[in-house]
Amino acid sequence: MNKLWVFDIDNTLANVHHRWDHLRGEKKDWDQFFAKQHLDEPYQAVLDVFHALAFDRGDDAFIVVTGRDERFRDVSLEWLNRHIQFNFPTQDLYMRPGGNREDDDVLKVKIIKNWLQRHPNYKVGAIFEDRHRIIDAFRAEGWYTFECNQERLEY
Ligand SMILES: [Mg+2]
Repeated sequence: MNKLWVFDIDNTLANVHHRWDHLRGEKKDWDQFFAKQHLDEPYQAVLDVFHALAFDRGDDAFIVVTGRDERFRDVSLEWLNRHIQFNFPTQDLYMRPGGNREDDDVLKVKIIKNWLQRHPNYKVGAIFEDRHRIIDAFRAEGWYTFECNQERLEY
């Protein structure tokens, strides 16, 4: 079996702490939160793990699965290319379809299950994710998940 490695962006590969204030309190301002995403610094440790795995990738697959809306595809790809430092294939970046309002744990499980269905000789190697609700959903599927919530942000 080949392995699928999955990385989240916000608060996993990318440090979102500087734009965190927009998600505090009763009214979360996701538009403002996402407007500053190009300014994120990466978590070097998570990038290093990505690079270490990808260096000897063989037939392994690497995808990025984010709850960000499709309208952020260009800025997200630009960020990934700048920090991962190779041309990340646009088809390997899985995002929230325009207008989709599903909870991100439901959305992400669906994306990964669909991927596995289309690639029957693959299984999940591991997933890197920060949100507890999503981590729980992945673990319920039997997928090994590393918790990357370095800042212990709750949202
Ligand atoms: Mg995240």
